[in-house]
Amino acid sequence: MTFDEVKEMEQEHFMPTYGRFPVQLVRGRGATLFDEAGAPYIDFTSGIGVNVLGYGDRAWSDAVAIQATKVQHVSNLYYNPTAVRFGDTLCRRSGFHKVFLCNSGAEANECAVKLARKYGNETHGAGCNEIITLKNSFHGRTVTTLSATGQDAFHQHFTPFTEGFRYAQAGDIDALRAMVTEQTCGVMLELIQGEGGVNVVDPRYVYEVKQLCKEKDIVLIFDEVQTGVGRTGTLYAWEAWGVKPDVLTSAKGLGNGLPIGACLATEKFGAVLSAGTHGSTFGGNPVACAGGEVVLERMNDAFLMEVERKGYYLRDKIMEFSQVEEVRGKGLMLGVKTNVLADAKTLASECLAHGLLILTAKDVLRCLPPLTISYEELDKGIRILHEVLHATK
Ligand SMILES: *Cc1c(COP(=O)(O)O)cnc(C)c1O
Repeated sequence: MTFDEVKEMEQEHFMPTYGRFPVQLVRGRGATLFDEAGAPYIDFTSGIGVNVLGYGDRAWSDAVAIQATKVQHVSNLYYNPTAVRFGDTLCRRSGFHKVFLCNSGAEANECAVKLARKYGNETHGAGCNEIITLKNSFHGRTVTTLSATGQDAFHQHFTPFTEGFRYAQAGDIDALRAMVTEQTCGVMLELIQGEGGVNVVDPRYVYEVKQLCKEKDIVLIFDEVQTGVGRTGTLYAWEAWGVKPDVLTSAKGLGNGLPIGACLATEKFGAVLSAGTHGSTFGGNPVACAGGEVVLERMNDAFLMEVERKGYYLRDKIMEFSQVEEVRGKGLMLGVKTNVLADAKTLASECLAHGLLILTAKDVLRCLPPLTISYEELDKGIRILHEVLHATK
């Protein structure tokens, strides 16, 4: 099939939910992807924070392939040692007590919402079911996680939305305090708002949110779907913020490309979702878990330190450009605010035309490269970004 035929077929049979860039990616090596003609693209996206080990990782693909030849799926009616081993590693490495395995970020957040509501209901009465999230947040595309998302643009078309969500301004602890009532069962936030513009949430504020939640016995949930799995230079971002949530959600990078999600809870909240109250057909899929095990094994201290170093390297180089106003974020999750007139989407299209895949978030360019990206690939990407910004008005 030629690329034109692929585009035509897609248009004919796929619901038109995506505005795709005009490129098809057919293979990859390291942090470089290739189109059907063999043209290379430096990848500053990793499939939106997913392909943390890049492309062609032998240990990961071997583990996945071997598991696929043994058994590809086991129902949760039975035990599955690959999932159990992965869940055990994830709990030990993340510092949480219990895990529920699912298949995406939105599902992990659904699990967290159910947990907070059940805890609120059982501990403080049936009316305790409200969850406060932050303005500019993003928590997923299901009807409930759209409700949780604190952006009006996501609250269109699909009424009635799930009730019981309120939105607080990040950084304003007094506003949050004023919003908390006897009905509040949970507070959910991202430590860096990814889709919302790579906005770093102030650690002082996060600490105060934790104190408030503790005082009122409210479940504190961190959505680490984008910030987790080494992305910001620690396995999970809360370690650097110094504030541990009661519940943490993870997905994206956790499977290095296979669909997997996890909702983790501390000991106090670990048994709230009792037998029969939650479940998933695919959750704990052994192929995804075999891949996840390799991801977690790889993320030792030396690996994470390298992520931090590469993050500083990328940030420092980009900051040198006269067309750049601000670089924000942490580790290899960076938002680049430029002073050129062209909008972020146009810049991303220009980068693609020059051989660099880069994301946008609101008005910033967003870099989420594979965590294994080499300095040579970083330099190539930086050079392309500079060329594009230099040539743009
Ligand atoms: C991507 C993302 C989600 C949704 O994850 P899906 O796997 O697409 O359902 C939720 N929260 C955050 C912070 C995300 O970045």
